[in-house]
Amino acid sequence: MILNHGVSCSQGEWVWVDSGTEVPIGARVKVTDTGHQLLVDDEGKEYKLSQKEDSIRVMHPTSVEGVDDMIRLGDLNEAGLLRNLLVRHRQGIIYTYIGSVLVAVNPYQELPLYTADQVRRYHGRRLGELPPHVFAIADTCYFNMRRHNRDQCCIISGESGAGKTESTKLVLQFLAAVSGQHSWIEQQILEANPILEAFGNAKTIRNDNSSRFGKYVEIFFSKDGVIEGARLEQYLLEKSRVCHQAMEERNYHIFYCMLTGMTTEQKRNLCLGDASEFNYLKRGDCVVCDGRDDAKDYTRIRTALKILTFTETHCWAILKLVFLGNMTWALSSPNPPQPKCLTYRSFMTNRERVSKPLSSEQAADCRDAFVKAIYGKLFIWIVGRINSAIHKTPTNGPKYVRNSIGLLDIFGFENFASNSFEQLCINFANEQLQQFFVRHVFKLEQEEYTKEDIVWKNITFNDNTQTLDLLVGKPLNVLALIDEESHFPKGTDVTMLNKMNQVHAKGNIYIPSKNTHDMEFGIRHFAGVVYYDSRGFLEKNRDTLSSDIIKLIDTTTNKLLRQIFEAQLSAAETDGRKQVSTLSGQFRQSLDSLMKALSICQPHFIRCFKPNDNKKSMCFDRNLCIRQLRYSGMIDTIRIRKLGYPIRHTFKQFLQRYRVLLKTTVCDPKTAVIAGHDDWKIGTTKIFLKVQLNLDFSVQVKMI
Ligand code: ATP
Ligand code: MG
Repeated sequence: MILNHGVSCSQGEWVWVDSGTEVPIGARVKVTDTGHQLLVDDEGKEYKLSQKEDSIRVMHPTSVEGVDDMIRLGDLNEAGLLRNLLVRHRQGIIYTYIGSVLVAVNPYQELPLYTADQVRRYHGRRLGELPPHVFAIADTCYFNMRRHNRDQCCIISGESGAGKTESTKLVLQFLAAVSGQHSWIEQQILEANPILEAFGNAKTIRNDNSSRFGKYVEIFFSKDGVIEGARLEQYLLEKSRVCHQAMEERNYHIFYCMLTGMTTEQKRNLCLGDASEFNYLKRGDCVVCDGRDDAKDYTRIRTALKILTFTETHCWAILKLVFLGNMTWALSSPNPPQPKCLTYRSFMTNRERVSKPLSSEQAADCRDAFVKAIYGKLFIWIVGRINSAIHKTPTNGPKYVRNSIGLLDIFGFENFASNSFEQLCINFANEQLQQFFVRHVFKLEQEEYTKEDIVWKNITFNDNTQTLDLLVGKPLNVLALIDEESHFPKGTDVTMLNKMNQVHAKGNIYIPSKNTHDMEFGIRHFAGVVYYDSRGFLEKNRDTLSSDIIKLIDTTTNKLLRQIFEAQLSAAETDGRKQVSTLSGQFRQSLDSLMKALSICQPHFIRCFKPNDNKKSMCFDRNLCIRQLRYSGMIDTIRIRKLGYPIRHTFKQFLQRYRVLLKTTVCDPKTAVIAGHDDWKIGTTKIFLKVQLNLDFSVQVKMI
């Protein structure tokens, strides 16, 4: 049977069927014993063919089995990309390219892909020569750095649990292996990870080892390609987790590791018991995490700290501080314990400084602010210490050449049921990275056309400039307004929201709150609309400790505590009223320097995908993956490609493929004419087509 669309529906034929799902799904024609024709889709659902005749079209052969590089798909659209990932996932293939971008689908199981043999196999090979692999990207970085003396960077993105941190570690492992020295510095760089993860990762509902901070690691190489050092930058640790965890989530790993890993004697010295005795550690009603061995991790962390030259005194000081935060006391007791600054607040009246007792709720907030500040500062200090061990400035004078490979492992776009200030910062970072990505893909396309002497002008692509303008570009942009209101002593979340509504309501990116009681505002991000609850924005952005607490810290004899608050203590000394930078201010600054660093590198992209929300190995959730395809920029990649001539064949490939259509055996394709098609170009080495040529004979290729 031949349908109008040219689909011949015989047993085993593959088609796309529009079955009311978000994008068409692949299906196969099945003829039953009784001679009825059915369609069986990729999820096993059956339809009568007669009911679906109007909504099916032929599947391009490339989509049937899937391809290594999705840019070669005949069906270069959402459905095509999605099915390609699906069929590969079913075959246990987790890596796929789309052009030079690597898509990595989390396998949720150990695969034998990362052995020393695999390192050797991928080392020194060109991208595309072997099946897609994270090592191939790592090797391209290494090769390009050495060949062109140019710094490289690798941007690894994806949502929580998608596999960013694992991929980062694999790239690092590959680079250490090909640098090949097994040196002390290499070991130190690798051992920084367990420390960072102990203090910065936690079990969440999405990921048992979720990084609650962003990081950029730059690895420095000598001109001989040997690792010489590294530098770490961290972004926005989630401090609120120290005091509060959602159900089934934990606090940072380090707490549980200490409590299970330390000896009874050591615990007694610090007056510690079990995790279940600490309010701060059991908010999520979950103190153990299946599959993690906290005691073993503790030993690992202690070893890593040693390798990174933390002294025994440092280690103890860190561990003590970690638990200082976990002090609890009965706030309602008639004799509130010292320190008084946590239960009283002092302020200046016209004439004198007075103290006022805090309500138990206020006191708890005050305690939590203190605890969060301690943990946040401690984390920054630890990263600083790691850097002082692994980051050596070259001693061979200013002419010394060294190159670097930077690895960015940063939180992906977030859109939860409730979104706050942290999500705004994270999504702002993702807008910047998205712009960077899209511009890079666009530039690559332009370069390809120039190389092939094809005119590709007047092509514009709408990227997310408008959203970035709203956030940080325009006068009175959203982040500037939040900052302004944060510096204004009488500013509140309400006054801030009113200002934002007034200034931006007319644009089409900002979505103002619905009425005067509504505390939400929305922003149209590249990955979709996100509504933010403005409550708590200013307090989070101000990120200050009360002057009472700073004074308390000033009285402490705990050296590490003083050290981690050094900046605050000296600011309080010089000028108490000095305008301190806000959280978004600091974040913007570190992002600006990140973007500057990235812009001078040759970039590579790894897009990590999560196949399902249940951490299962062989399950592929189509809707979840479509969403990720959209906001990972993959759809933009094909949109950009389709602005020009998406289908390309080298002359040789073209001849092999379409020889049957040629009326002659003279084979100089530069003189080919494709009748019935006006949209094609001939470059210097390739033929460029707007759409795939059909193998039916309405299209003919003639030689002139
Ligand atoms: P988050 O944003 O929460 O930090 P992430 O993207 O960094 O998430 P990972 O911690 O790298 O996610 O990965 C989550 C889990 O998925 C890992 O703990 C591991 O179990 C599994 N995983 C990821 N990548 C791989 C891989 N290549 N092979 C085997 N398992 C993997
Ligand atoms: Mg991570």
